[in-house]
Amino acid sequence: MHFLLFLVGVGDQPVACNQLCGYLTRVGDGDGVRKAIDPLLGDGLLRLVLGERFNLKLIHRHMAIVTATIDPMNPTYRIAPSILSADFARLGEEVRTVIASGADWIHFDVMDNHYVPNLTFGPMICQALKPHAVTPDGKPVPIDVHLMVQPVDELASAFAKAGADYISFHPDASAHVHRSIQNIKSHGAKAGLTFNPAMPLDVLDWVIEDLDLILLMSVNPGFGGQSFIDSTLRKIEAVRKRIDASGKDIRLEVDGGIKENNIRAVANAGADTFVAGSAIFGKPDYKAVIDQMRANLAA
Ligand SMILES: [Zn+2]
Repeated sequence: MHFLLFLVGVGDQPVACNQLCGYLTRVGDGDGVRKAIDPLLGDGLLRLVLGERFNLKLIHRHMAIVTATIDPMNPTYRIAPSILSADFARLGEEVRTVIASGADWIHFDVMDNHYVPNLTFGPMICQALKPHAVTPDGKPVPIDVHLMVQPVDELASAFAKAGADYISFHPDASAHVHRSIQNIKSHGAKAGLTFNPAMPLDVLDWVIEDLDLILLMSVNPGFGGQSFIDSTLRKIEAVRKRIDASGKDIRLEVDGGIKENNIRAVANAGADTFVAGSAIFGKPDYKAVIDQMRANLAA
């Protein structure tokens, strides 16, 4: 394993790579890991050093481990129930129950009756729910705050202080998008940008490398229980290409009208994180819905 790691390291060094030319011929593009290991399985450096005695099975096993951690074909899917559709009279209990039912994140829809025509909850409720956002064995579950508010910065700061892990906002709600992103990150939270169904993606040209999350709305924001807008699938594909081209570790989350019967199509388009409100909280058995979503994602 150490030997493999050494070679992986070499694979990202242009000079060393050139010196090894002929043995690691496909490695000079800087993105390393899998491409470095792949040629080793042919007649490259490893065979030269170890002769015929190296254990191909062992190497295959290491390759499997390495590819499993970076393979874009096997993304980790996250299901993020939106408490917009939970019972507001017992939110703490709802958060605990949905996490115990398999939720990966808690999605927190903040509406201000200005940017969107509805009013939900603020940072004090986020702070009150933070201790409830834990698995039954005590592991913290990320709170994913989706700000549908204008202006952005003051509330974003307040949510970061209230314990939000991810904070995303709509670029058309901020006069200074880059500054708003930096503000969120300066408070130690992860930053996301959110796009309404008819909003162009151009701003990503200039800020994608600063983002941890891109959240695509598949309904017009403001209310729960709406139907998925199909043109979002093309938009998901476009954002997935941008994320892959950026080389950054950025979540691609989709919000609105996701249910058991369309989650697979949304994943196929390139999403890895799925907000679901009424699809989960509107049913008596949250675990049955989440299990069915995971089964459909895995099928
Ligand atoms: Zn949302």
